[in-house]
Formats: sequence, C-alpha cells, structure tokens
Amino acid sequence: MSRVFNFSAGPAMLPEAVLQRAQQEFMEWNGSGMNVMEMSHRGKEFMSIAAKAEADLRDVMGIPDNYKVLFLQGGASAQFTAIPMNLLRGKKTADYFNTGQWSKKAIQEAKRYCDVNVVASSEDDNFTTVPDKASWKLNPDAAYVHYTLNETIGGVEFDAIPDVGDIPLVVDISSTILSRPIDVSKFALIYAGAQKNVGPAGLTIVIVRDDLIGDVLPGTPTTFDYKVQADNDSMYNTPPTYSLYLSGLVFQWLKDLGGLEAMAKINQRKAEKLYAAIDNSGFYQNPVDKRYRSWMNIPFTLNDDSLDADFLAGAKQAGLVTLKGHRSVGGMRASIYNAMPEEGVDALIKFMQEFAQSNS
Ligand SMILES: *Cc1c(COP(=O)(O)O)cnc(C)c1O
Repeated sequence: MSRVFNFSAGPAMLPEAVLQRAQQEFMEWNGSGMNVMEMSHRGKEFMSIAAKAEADLRDVMGIPDNYKVLFLQGGASAQFTAIPMNLLRGKKTADYFNTGQWSKKAIQEAKRYCDVNVVASSEDDNFTTVPDKASWKLNPDAAYVHYTLNETIGGVEFDAIPDVGDIPLVVDISSTILSRPIDVSKFALIYAGAQKNVGPAGLTIVIVRDDLIGDVLPGTPTTFDYKVQADNDSMYNTPPTYSLYLSGLVFQWLKDLGGLEAMAKINQRKAEKLYAAIDNSGFYQNPVDKRYRSWMNIPFTLNDDSLDADFLAGAKQAGLVTLKGHRSVGGMRASIYNAMPEEGVDALIKFMQEFAQSNS
C-alpha cells in the first residue's frame, strides 16, 4: 500500500489514524454485528455515536450551551439558501462581504430572498485581500451580516472577527473549521461543509444561537427549518450516518491531539514554511496580501506558466497529488488541512526547490 500526499481542496485527506480505526470497525462496530452505515439512525447504537460526535464537537470548539449544533445535508451551498430563510425574521435586507468566489455564490443565492447590501468587496483587487475596515458600509437594518472566513479558492482568510456591532454575525467556515480556535459566542450562526477539514462529504454542520430560530420565511422547506431540525436532534430526515460517524472519529482524534490550540500550532508552522518557500524562491509567487493569507489553501503560480504541466507531472511522481489550481485562478493550489501531515508539506517544499533548481 502506498498513500500519497493529497493536496485536494475537498473532498480532502483524512487522518490516517481515523481511516485505520474505521477499517477496524468496518465489518462490525463495537459488538453490534454490523457496519455503522447499516444501522438504523433511531437505534441506540447510532444514537450514541451521534451524541458522542456532538459532545466532542462542542468540547473541541467550546460551543456554549445556548447554541444548537445541527448535522444536516446539502453542503454549505444549501445553507446559502437556508440562512436567509431562517434568519431574515421579517426583515427585508441582509449584509454580505464579498471576498471571493464563495462569497459571490452566497450573495447570489441570498438575492433570491432579500435585498443584499454588499458591505465591502475585494473583487477589484482580484480577491487577493480583505477590504479595509474604513470602507465597510454596514446597514443597521440588516437582518444579519454574512462573511466567508476563509476563501478556499483565493486563499484569503480574515485575520480577525469583523466588528459589526449588534447585527447578528453569520460565517461560512467550510475550509477553516477546526483549524484553530474560534470564539463561537461572537456569532449568530456558523456553518461548514464537512468535506474540507472535517470528514467525508455529505455532512453539513450548522451551529446556531437558539434564540434566533423558529421564525422562517413562508414556504421554507421543512428540512431547512433549523427549529424543526433542532427539535428532532437533526433527525427529522435520515442524517448522513456514516459521514457523521467518521466526523466523530475526527473530533476524537483532535481531542487526543490536544485540541484546537495544538492543531493551530501545527497548522501555523505548516503554512509559514510553505509561504516562506514560495516568497524566498524567486520562482514561485503567491498573490495574496500577507496579512490575509490562508493557513489552509495556498495558491501559487510559477513565474513561467509553460512549466505548469511539468510541475504537476513531477509532483505526481513524487507522490504529491491534486496540486492543480482552481480554473478561475490558474497555477497551483496546495490545500493543507488538519489531516495533511507536516511531512507532506516538507515533501512539497523539497520538490518545489528541486524543480526550481532544475528549471532555472
Ligand atoms: C466548498 C465550499 C463551499 C461549498 O460547499 P458544498 O459542500 O459543495 O456546498 C462553500 N463555502 C466554502 C468556503 C467552501 O470552501
């Protein structure tokens, strides 16, 4: 068996220890005589798996008791719809930051349900930065303010929680969830698809303050109603049971590792050494404003893009895969989520240096 270092933006690598544990439990989970995906979601075995996953996530993220944790489906994209449906609460307008491709998609969807006020946009800077606070135009009548903490495609991450006063703050943390500590109490709602930095695709995590739910837009599908899902422990419809089980193993893995403080140290080190290798090379470039560089998704280009295909082929030979950049940005993108071992980043840096040497 030979596993590669997979730099995919998502679905992405899972911790090897988690895969091994799932393999051990594949034919039979804990004396149940069956695989977790064969279990009824209403049976006591699966209920215990779901309860432990929620308790461990609450523990790892420090989620206060007045927040509901929902395990849903439809990806972060379904939340682009569910958020205005649940959080407009009689208001007609919402505030959105526009800092990249995922912000744009969220805005596009919200416009179907309300007036969107774009607080600030970095589109004129090619989404390589976060707009300066002095330029923000918050609307005091907005039902909520939405932003994308880490733009997975552009590799741009807010360096602090935006101060929006009393307006409920909503954040898409799909590609940065669990990479470092976050103060949940500052938010009205936090959401993420699991397939970037948590577990397999199919699971969507929503963390929402409980006083904000229950007043949905007329016509809201029942499965999209946070109150209905909360009242049914996310089991109004059948949850993605196997994805939830594997994500639970990842939460346990994070706890064993020392939690998000410990994870953050490793992630910071991985990102800093990769950025240093890019900046010091004279061969590679990252276009993002240094202050807002993502720890998770690191796009880079070669000064000579006619070498891109050679770079990707050579990397693949070295066991470093899925480095091709997003079509909207070009070049390369290394996604170095929690499950990417530091040795994977070291191997990438070594390959980049050798490639630069033999092609300069
Ligand atoms: C991947 C991604 C999404 C979309 O996730 P889906 O699960 O495919 O709907 C939304 N926002 C961000 C920041 C992402 O990285």
